[in-house]
Amino acid sequence: MSNDAVLLELLNSAPIVDGVPTDELRGAGASGWLRAHGIPGTPTAAREIRDAIAGVVRDEQPAASLQRFLDGVRQVPVAGESGVEWKVEGARFAARAVLAWAQVQGRLRPCENDAECTLFLIDRSKANARRWCSMSTCGNRLKARRHQDRLRNTD
Ligand SMILES: [Zn+2]
Repeated sequence: MSNDAVLLELLNSAPIVDGVPTDELRGAGASGWLRAHGIPGTPTAAREIRDAIAGVVRDEQPAASLQRFLDGVRQVPVAGESGVEWKVEGARFAARAVLAWAQVQGRLRPCENDAECTLFLIDRSKANARRWCSMSTCGNRLKARRHQDRLRNTD
């Protein structure tokens, strides 16, 4: 799984299911969930980095609040077969998650159905105009609700 795919899975690990907030990183299944996603460390540490990045993506926290996860990380030039490459050193999982976020900044956003949905999406389309985690669930639900609101307001 690519770094941004893991990041998205991590951010989406606290979905609302049938109206009930859930959290894969709490309870008996949490360690197994982390292992299945190749994420090292404890569920507590994973929740900390998840909630920190989610807060930035939701514009609730400044990006500078992520600095604490980047301490000790540096880029080192390495001369290889085909030239010089920059290698990241000292990046534990939390730092890798922040760097993955930096790669998809502007394309990673919360689902617009924010009253019913806590999921995030990465929009890789040229238009970069995707609004819902899934058209078949949130997109249609939101359209239906707006339609009902309109009908109600015209009574
Ligand atoms: Zn959604």
